[in-house]
Amino acid sequence: MSEPKDKSQKATKAKTKSKKKSRVPIPPKTQLELWARAAGRCEFRGCNKPLYLDELTKTRDNLSIISHIIAAEPGGPRGNEIDSPRLAKDISNLMLTCRDHAKIIDSKENVHAYPIELLREYKKEHEDRIRLLTDIMDDAKSLVLLFQAPIDGNNFNIDKTLAYQAMLPNYPAKEHPDVIDFSDFADRETEEGYWSILSRNIKAKFNDIFKHGTNRRDYMHVSVFALGPIPLLTYLGSLIGDIDSVDLYQRHRTTKDWKWKDEPDDFRKEYYRTIEPETHNDDFDTSILISISGVVDRKKVVDLVGEGCNVYEITADKPGLDFLSSRLKLEMFCYEYRQLLTKIRSANGHTKELNLFIAAPSPVAIECGRALLPKCDPAVRVYDLIKGASGFVYALTINKNRDA
Ligand SMILES: [Zn+2]
Repeated sequence: MSEPKDKSQKATKAKTKSKKKSRVPIPPKTQLELWARAAGRCEFRGCNKPLYLDELTKTRDNLSIISHIIAAEPGGPRGNEIDSPRLAKDISNLMLTCRDHAKIIDSKENVHAYPIELLREYKKEHEDRIRLLTDIMDDAKSLVLLFQAPIDGNNFNIDKTLAYQAMLPNYPAKEHPDVIDFSDFADRETEEGYWSILSRNIKAKFNDIFKHGTNRRDYMHVSVFALGPIPLLTYLGSLIGDIDSVDLYQRHRTTKDWKWKDEPDDFRKEYYRTIEPETHNDDFDTSILISISGVVDRKKVVDLVGEGCNVYEITADKPGLDFLSSRLKLEMFCYEYRQLLTKIRSANGHTKELNLFIAAPSPVAIECGRALLPKCDPAVRVYDLIKGASGFVYALTINKNRDA
């Protein structure tokens, strides 16, 4: 450990002396680079404390300690005969830390809890984050929209910090996201008037965000984080409609964050397939089933819409709650869905209503509403799968007189 301005260790003079003697001076150039890489903040995971100023007294001073991951002396914390001398001044082995964390990682009682690999991880994580954030250019600005409504009485509160992390390298255009929030709405989906009240409210709030004062074309980019009942999400999607550049996110169950996962480079993989009826009879209704987070029960749908209904289904190759892991899978769904809409348009003409039954994560539900063309597509009746109920129940109609 090198302590450029430390006066606090006078307690045992002898100890301090021996420490001073063994301390390897870190070249100023290396110190400067470390400061720049760490943006002057403690690199201990979760600390991030500014080290150029005391936040309480606003006193400006160098409050940093340059900590060694592998001690400069072989006998020091995590030190050994070979690496200690070799890496004593190597920036890859140095961490900028606050005084508390310098002490914690090197203390006899705690040193075992901070192995080399972990501290390297802390350093990399912090420095990567700083680089990513400072790499951002102005055109990466995005309007952040959070949408939350209870599902079966369960409330959600979308964490804006997790949302901001997920959208990197895009960054929020404003300090606070725009929020359409029904988390304190007490009525259940099964209650009379629920869908009409909420869809009216969504429309009012949406217009407030996107039309008041500023023309919506001013928003180059929108990032949407949504949790709520499927029919409301499709309705939100139909409102988002023609905004050009929209990124949709979902909360992943396993990692509990909103970051899309990477997909292996097997782009040709067939993630979805569309099942069509043997013949399309345009005297009958048409239903679209979306089986992604689960399988829509075809029999229950037929019970609801009648035997003659033309049933189309887009199904994931392996439907399940964790299927929609990557942005690529969402994009491929959109492609498949838009193709299907085109097919149905030419079979049906533009007048017949459609029924929509969705078992899918929120971005898919939003895309199902978003892909509809107000002038070409008919009104779409969206059904909701109510927990405990025997199956799907009609909820609301979207794409109906959208401008009214
Ligand atoms: Zn710290």
